[in-house]
Amino acid sequence: IVTAANVTKRFGELRALNDVSLTIAPGAVQCIIGPSGSGKSTLLRCINQLEKIDQGAIWVDGELIGYRIKGDELHELSDAEIARQRLATGMVFQRFNLFNHMTVLENIIEGPVTVLKRPRQEAVAEAEKLLARVGLSEKRNSYPIELSGGQQQRIAIARALAMKPKLMLFDEPTSALDPELVGEVLAVMRDLAASGMTMIVVTHELGFAREVASDVIFMDKGEIVERGHPQQVLVAPQQARTRDFIAAVL
Ligand code: ATP
Ligand code: MG
Repeated sequence: IVTAANVTKRFGELRALNDVSLTIAPGAVQCIIGPSGSGKSTLLRCINQLEKIDQGAIWVDGELIGYRIKGDELHELSDAEIARQRLATGMVFQRFNLFNHMTVLENIIEGPVTVLKRPRQEAVAEAEKLLARVGLSEKRNSYPIELSGGQQQRIAIARALAMKPKLMLFDEPTSALDPELVGEVLAVMRDLAASGMTMIVVTHELGFAREVASDVIFMDKGEIVERGHPQQVLVAPQQARTRDFIAAVL
C-alpha cells in the first residue's frame, strides 16, 4: 500500500533521508526504530505530504503522491489534490493535538462533518462506535483537559480513524505518556493491528514491536540500516549499529 523509491529529503546540507526505499503491504504493521535524528519522523511526514521530497517517488494506495505524470513530464498536484491524497493517511503524534475547546465527541466528528461532508447524525453514530472501540464511551461529553494523557491519545486515534484512512501513521505515540498510561494506548494499537489496519509505527517500545510488528526497520543517519522480521532485527540483529541501539534502549 506504500512504496518509496530512492527517496531523499534535505534540510539545507543535511540529508534527513538518504536514498530510502521500502514497500509496505496492505495489513502490515511496519515498526520503525532508530536513534534521535535518524529521519523517522521525516519519513512519516514525507509519506503524508507534510514535507516535500527532493528526489525519488512515493506511492500511497496506488497513487503517486504530489505529482501527476503527463507524457514524460511530472506536474505538481494542486493543493486541493494533495489534500485529497492526504485523506488516505491518518496520523497520530507524540503530543495529542486535540482541539481543546471542543468535547471529545465534537473532536471526532469535526473532520467527517466539515471535510467529508457527512451528515452529522451519521458522524455521531460512527464516533460512538469508535469511542466504544477505544474504551471511552463515557467520556463523549468531556473536554480534552479533563482526560489523562493516555485517554487523550486514545481519542486522537479515534479521531484519525473517523476519517476512514487506508493507512495509519504513528509517531512515537506513547513517548510523552507517564509509564502507567502507555499500556492502554498500545492495547488500542494492538486491536487496530488485529483488525487488519495497515500501520507504520515509530516507537521505542521494543516489546510492542516484537509482538505486533510484521516487519521492523532500523534507521540511522537518514538511511535504512537493517530491515526484517521483528525476531531477526530485535533479537538477532545483523548490523553492529542495530545491536548498539537495541542494547542502549533496553
Ligand atoms: P527523534 O527520535 O528525535 O524524533 P527522528 O528520527 O524523528 O528523531 P527527524 O525528526 O526525522 O528524526 O529528523 C531527522 C534530521 O532532520 C534531524 O537531524 C533533524 O534535526 C532534521 N530536521 C527535521 N526537520 C527539520 C526541519 N524542518 N528543518 C531542518 N532540519 C530538520
Ligand atoms: Mg521523530
